[in-house]
Amino acid sequence: MLKSPKEVKLGEILRDAGLISPVQLTKALQEQKKTGSSLIEILTKKRYISKQSLVDMLTYEIPLPFGIKDPDKVLKNLLLDTGLTTEEELQQLIDESELGKRLVQEKYIKKFQLELARQDQQKTGHPLWRTLINLRFVAPDDITALLKDHMYRSQYTDLDQLVGEILVNTGQLTVDQLQHARDTHQKTSQPLGKILTEEGIISATRLAKALGEYLNIKFVDLGRAACDEKAAFLLPESYLREHKILPIRQEPHENGKPPSLLIAIVSPLDVAVRDNIRMMTGCNVVPLLTTEKALQNKLDQIFPPQTGHELLSLYESSQRMPESVRPMIRVDVGDLQDDGATVSLVTSLIEGAIHANATDIHLEPQIHEELRVRYRVDGMLHDIMKIPKHVHPMVISRIKVLADMDITERRQAQDGHITMKIGNMEYYMRIGTLPTKLGERLVIRILNEDRVLKGLKQLGLESQELSLVEKFISTPYGMILVTGPVGSGKTTTLYSALNEINMLTKNIITIEDPVEYQLPGISQVEVDEKIDLTFAAGLRAILRQDPNTLMVGEIRDSETASVAVRAALTGQQLFSTLHTQDAPGAITTLTYLGVQPFWIASSLTGVIAQRLIRTICPHCKERYQPAPQLLRLLNLEHDSHIEYYHGKGCDTCFHSGYSGRTGIFEIMTITDDLRELVAHNASESQIKDTAIRQGMSTLKMSGIRKIQRGETTIEETLRVIL
Ligand SMILES: [Zn+2]
Repeated sequence: MLKSPKEVKLGEILRDAGLISPVQLTKALQEQKKTGSSLIEILTKKRYISKQSLVDMLTYEIPLPFGIKDPDKVLKNLLLDTGLTTEEELQQLIDESELGKRLVQEKYIKKFQLELARQDQQKTGHPLWRTLINLRFVAPDDITALLKDHMYRSQYTDLDQLVGEILVNTGQLTVDQLQHARDTHQKTSQPLGKILTEEGIISATRLAKALGEYLNIKFVDLGRAACDEKAAFLLPESYLREHKILPIRQEPHENGKPPSLLIAIVSPLDVAVRDNIRMMTGCNVVPLLTTEKALQNKLDQIFPPQTGHELLSLYESSQRMPESVRPMIRVDVGDLQDDGATVSLVTSLIEGAIHANATDIHLEPQIHEELRVRYRVDGMLHDIMKIPKHVHPMVISRIKVLADMDITERRQAQDGHITMKIGNMEYYMRIGTLPTKLGERLVIRILNEDRVLKGLKQLGLESQELSLVEKFISTPYGMILVTGPVGSGKTTTLYSALNEINMLTKNIITIEDPVEYQLPGISQVEVDEKIDLTFAAGLRAILRQDPNTLMVGEIRDSETASVAVRAALTGQQLFSTLHTQDAPGAITTLTYLGVQPFWIASSLTGVIAQRLIRTICPHCKERYQPAPQLLRLLNLEHDSHIEYYHGKGCDTCFHSGYSGRTGIFEIMTITDDLRELVAHNASESQIKDTAIRQGMSTLKMSGIRKIQRGETTIEETLRVIL
C-alpha cells in the first residue's frame, strides 16, 4: 500500500519539531508501507513518541493539523479525546470555502490575502487554514477564535428565535411585546431573554421553565436543590463562569453505563459545551435549566471571590506549605482588571520564584482555558497558580513591557530580558515567548550573580563585543569555539551563550565532562569512559537526535574534532572549547588534531578567547601613577590625560585591592578573507595580522580598555595575559 502524502507531511512535522529522529521516521514509513497502518499508530506502538508529546505538539507546534478530507482516525480521536477540538470545528476547517468567506467577512483577512493563499495552496497542497498561518495572514488563535465565535453567535440567534416563538405560542407574550423586544435587541444586541426579563415582561424563572418544557430539559431551583460541591470542582472555575454552567452532582453508573453528571445550565442550545464536559469528565451529561442570577449566586458561594490583598497573602502562605498540600490558587478576574493588580501579580510571581530558588517560571496556556504558572526548582516543574484566561493577555503584556518586547506582536517568538532589583540582589532575567493555538506561552529564566548562569553582559563583554557574540549565536549553523586556559571562564561563557538561544523553539543538547551545571530546558549528557560514552561517541548519538544546537564540553582528541566539524558542516550549530592562548591559536590546534584546513575554513563561525581578571575594589579605589616600565610592557606611552587606578587595600577586600572579576575577550569573526587564508594553510601570525587589520581587538587591547576605564590595574592585566 502506498503511503498517503498527508502522512508524509505529518511525519515531517514531527521530525522538524525534534520529536522523532530522521531514522525513526524512515523506519516508520517503511513499516507503514508493509502494514498499511496509520503513521501515528506505528510511531506510538514503537514508542518513538509518547501520546503526551504528541498532544503537546498538537497544542504548541501545529494547531489543529487538519483540513484534510479524510483525517487519520487515530489522530482525530486523539484530538477529540483531549478536547483540543470538536467535531463541529473540524468540519468547519474541512469546509474551506466557508472558512475563507467567513475570515474575510469577519475582517480577519483581506480578499486579496485569501486569493494569495489560494494560489499558494495550489503549489503546496496545504489546507487553507495552515496556508494562512504560514503566510502569517492570521495567527493560529484567529482561526480558533473565529470558529468559537461563530458557534457562540449562531447559538444566540437560534435561542432568541426560540424564546420568541415559545413565549408567543404559549400566550405568555404578545406579538407586539415580542416586536418591541426585538427592536431593542437590534439596538443593544443583548439576548432577547435578558431584555424580556429586565423589562419585567416575564420572570427569569418562568422563562427558563418555558424553555425547558419545550426542549425537554428539567428546571432546577439552585436555591433548594442538593448540590455536591465536589462536583463543582470537576471543572475549572473560569470555565464554569465563562460558559455559565455548574456541575451539581455526580450519579454512579449503572449496568456498565458511564456515570452521570447533573449540570445546571443557562444556555440550553449550547451543545458544544456539553460535549466538551463529557470529554473532560468522562461522564454522561444531564443538563438542568436554571436562571443566570441563581447560577452566579451559587458560583460565588462555592468560589468566593478573593480580593487582591487576600490573594497575595494566600499566595504567600502557600509558599510555606509542604509541596504535597500546597493548594492551587485561583485568581479572581475582577481583582486584576486594573493595571495595579496585574503589576503586583507579576511582581509577586517573580519574587515568589526567587524565594523558591526557582531557575525559571513557565506561563502556559491550557486547553481548559486557564494560564498555568509553574516554577522549576532543582530541575523539576511545580504547579504554582492558575490564572483565568481573561487575565492571560494582561499578565503576558505586563511581562513583555518589562522586557522591552513588542506587545502587539503575538504571532512570532520573541526574546527579551529584564533586570530587576529584589532585596539587595540584582537579577537578570531572560524572557522567551512562543505563539501557540491557546495563546502565548512564556518562559522567564532567572539568572543571578551566585549562579553559573549569567547574562552575556554580566560576563564583562562590552557593547561591541556583545554584538559580535550575538551575531555568532544567531548564525544557525557552524562552529563557535571558546578558548583559554583552565579557570578562564570558558564554561560560563558557553552556558550563557546557550542561554541566549530561545529555549522554546530550539532543541539544544550538550555533552559534557562532567555536567557542571543543570541547564533548564536543555538535554545534557555526561561523558562516561567506563561505558565507552566518550565525547565522540556521545556526539554521534546526539547527532541522530537532530538537534538545532549542540555543545561539546571540550574538543581534546582528533575523533571528537572530526565529528564536531562534520556536525557544523551539516547544518548544526555547535559550541565547544579548546585550550589555546588566543583566538587564532584555535585554528592551529584544530589542524594539529588532524582536521583538514578546508574543513576548518568551511565550518568555523568564530572564536572567542578569554581570561578572567580581578576588578579594583570600589571601597579603596584611588588614582595612582604606574611605573613607566609597566606601561611599556603594554606598549603604552606616558600620557598625563589618562588616569590610572588601583585599590590601596581595605577591610572589605582583605587588603588585596581587588573585589570581583570580569572577563577580557579576543573575538575573531571568520570573515571571507580569513576563510581563504585558513583554507590555504596560512601561518598563525598571518591569520592574526589579518584579523587585527579587519578590526579584531586582542586580549591585550581588551585589558587596556578595562584599565583605562578604571575597572582593573596594569599589574592584573599583565599577570593574566603574559
Ligand atoms: Zn578594598
